[in-house]
Amino acid sequence: MVSLVNNARLRRHFQQRLLSWYDRDRRQLPWREDRNPYHIWVSEIMLQQTRVAAVQGRYRRFLQRFPNVEKLAAARESSVLAAWSGLGYYRRARMMHAAARIIVKQHAGRLPVSSSKLFTLPGIGRYTAAAIASIAFDEPTAAVDGNVERVIGRLAGTNLRGEDLWQTAQKLLAQENPGNFNQALMELGATICLPRRPRCTVCPVFHVCRTRSVLPMHKPFSRQKKEAVHYALHCQNDLTFLVKRPGDISLMPEMWELPQIESAAGAAPWLTLRHSITATDFRITVSKIQVRPTAGGRWVSRRQLARMPLTGLARKILRAANVI
Ligand code: SF4
Repeated sequence: MVSLVNNARLRRHFQQRLLSWYDRDRRQLPWREDRNPYHIWVSEIMLQQTRVAAVQGRYRRFLQRFPNVEKLAAARESSVLAAWSGLGYYRRARMMHAAARIIVKQHAGRLPVSSSKLFTLPGIGRYTAAAIASIAFDEPTAAVDGNVERVIGRLAGTNLRGEDLWQTAQKLLAQENPGNFNQALMELGATICLPRRPRCTVCPVFHVCRTRSVLPMHKPFSRQKKEAVHYALHCQNDLTFLVKRPGDISLMPEMWELPQIESAAGAAPWLTLRHSITATDFRITVSKIQVRPTAGGRWVSRRQLARMPLTGLARKILRAANVI
């Protein structure tokens, strides 16, 4: 790697190989269709901790609902959370909404063009600031996410961390095409240099890689916790009874869900499914039973459901029941 980082000719060759591969073989994804800074920002926030497949459909729908930063800033938080439903990690949506208001108020509705200014906005960390600035504004700044960290570590044959990692990424960056280069490294990590089984035989930069699958540099798999949760689905005509999650919890505060019950209370479960949130695998059972309306809950019509911030799991269950 010392030679790749410090040898200008080899580095150039590596950049060209990677960029040509990206031009030729990259996945067609909706956020790669234009370089609108707002679109790139939305996609980068959605893609944090969420799979590409889950983001694809929701990205377009979100942009239909909030086509520009002004519309997002003017929206009510509950509408933004409703549009985010199913993507999880709702704090991202709240921060994006707060940042949109700052952009409208302090930057005349335009995203700042430099990574250092973007970094000052809520919800935009070092990686996201660099990704937006390089992709939308051609700023020659390396963007290091988990995929890039793994790829660079394997290219180097050693795990790099912190500033060493960022500086190495910066040295490798193709200065004249930073947006595509950053995306190419991420794409390589997402499709070829995979965490558990890197596909080295089809890797476009195999010839400069120190590892070539010899060192499986992946973190050990963390064990998922398992938990069983029971919900009641209580519908009356057009109405469904839902409860609001407390505002002071870290996971999905103030989102709406079905009422939880101790057990199926003798009723045969109508639906069982699995649902994963962060480090927990939930075994969910849903019973169609009547519950006593409680404080923090309310009857909601089908029309209202469409605009409510529902948890992803509640949405899944209500879809299965043909309520939405
Ligand atoms: S050769 Fe293998 S380990 Fe090296 S970058 Fe390519 S896929 Fe990753």
